[in-house]
Amino acid sequence: MNVTVNPKKLIKGATGDWEMVIGLEVHAQVTSNSKLFSGASTEFGGAPNDHVSLVDAAMPGMLPVINEECVAQAVRTGLGLKAQINLKSTFDRKNYFYPDLPQGYQISQFKSPIVGEGVVTVDISDGETITVGIERLHLEQDAGKSLHDQHPTMSFVDLNRSGVALMEIVSKPDIRSSEEAKAYVTKLRTILRYLGTCDGDMEKGSLRADVNVSVRKPGDPLGTRCEIKNVNSIRFIGQAIEYEARRQIGILEDGGVIEQETRLYDPNKGETRSMRSKEEAHDYRYFPDPDLLPLEFTQAYVDGLKAELPELPDEKRARFAAEFGLTPYDASVLASERESADFYETVLSKLADKVRDGKLAANWVINELFGRLNKEGKDIVSSPVSADQLAAIVDLIGEKTISGKIAKDLFEIIWAEGGDPRAVVEARGMKQVTDLGAIEKVVDDIVAANPDKVAQAKEKPALIGWFVGQVMKSSGGKANPQAVNDLLKAKLGI
Ligand code: ADP
Ligand code: MG
Repeated sequence: MNVTVNPKKLIKGATGDWEMVIGLEVHAQVTSNSKLFSGASTEFGGAPNDHVSLVDAAMPGMLPVINEECVAQAVRTGLGLKAQINLKSTFDRKNYFYPDLPQGYQISQFKSPIVGEGVVTVDISDGETITVGIERLHLEQDAGKSLHDQHPTMSFVDLNRSGVALMEIVSKPDIRSSEEAKAYVTKLRTILRYLGTCDGDMEKGSLRADVNVSVRKPGDPLGTRCEIKNVNSIRFIGQAIEYEARRQIGILEDGGVIEQETRLYDPNKGETRSMRSKEEAHDYRYFPDPDLLPLEFTQAYVDGLKAELPELPDEKRARFAAEFGLTPYDASVLASERESADFYETVLSKLADKVRDGKLAANWVINELFGRLNKEGKDIVSSPVSADQLAAIVDLIGEKTISGKIAKDLFEIIWAEGGDPRAVVEARGMKQVTDLGAIEKVVDDIVAANPDKVAQAKEKPALIGWFVGQVMKSSGGKANPQAVNDLLKAKLGI
């Protein structure tokens, strides 16, 4: 819980400083083959109404049957959020009419959700860490989709998504800036993806957020909030918060009051606009769904799922830092995606024992490989350089067969042409020259040819850099830099 006010996060208004207060309701589509209460497929895409059972279409007399895998996924997620798992929870009907909701109600969990309070640790830039409280996580059904652009005079309904399981993850109002909100959603997404409980694909709508924003003078009680519905990208979440907080400050500073309302973010205009006010808010007439028994399971069931959980990002990051001596930054970059962490660990496992260097390997994975992948818009799963190949390059540097500089050329060759790095070094004569006699010859030639520079270097030892450059140039970058330095120091007498 953020109890102290961080002055850097305040917004300057005409009447003084303001603090933003943000709470998020994230809807995450559960990774499962079939829907929450029916056997229909959850596959994305497909022709409209391809994946619709009689239950999803709400045919009279159909009965929902809970999908055990969705329950397990919600429990896994709760464990990943270090949250209270409720051994008994209930499903309620949330009643409203909409053409894409054939039941006339959504089955959700109202008073007693499957998961209670938890906590997420979030790293903000500059080494700052915040903790965001989780209020609850509950299971509910997704609705279908109305299609308004298929026919000049009619709207159609596609029920493929109808009944797909969602987890609604509600945060406490612990977030204090757009940057914190974006970092929180990013972290939540990472945790879900590690757990394999939601693919986190925001473009496909697998993860979206309702963003609650209010403002207050530091130290004041919570202000009235507005809820921005269904924001579907992390960037838009940030933009919507910035706009909305300033809009509210403007109203308050003009002596107005904030009406609690639901708003929409328009990314084209960069602004939020009113959708409905609290007075128009629905009365959902929640009541327990009589078709479904309370959901009950044992602690042993929860413990079984817990035992099977993968290592989570925070633990992985701490282990990387402790085991391989990585900086907190490098460790968190590698741990930010399960695939990246696995790639790094595969590289490490392939390195030769005697030169195994976790930091060097991390440098190469992060700076060279990730840097290059980013530039090309590729992700780690489709990397042209495999973990085997990268490990070979790191080994060649570690054993001093090639210099770091030549290794970059080698990396480029492997990236473009593939092949075995060791064989490429051999075939193209890229080996570092460590033969001192050969290097000494080059050093002598350059010293002899530049008597004026030699004299200057005795006055200004930094000039040794110029000599190193010359030697490296005439050796095609292959001279061992340490040997070059040592020899030059001796010859120049510095
Ligand atoms: P409701 O059920 O009406 O949506 P909740 O109490 O469940 O209300 O809150 C929904 C979300 O709004 C939560 O994420 C919570 O953190 C957030 N929230 C509550 N009060 C405020 C506030 N004053 N400012 C910003 N966010 C808030
Ligand atoms: Mg709510």
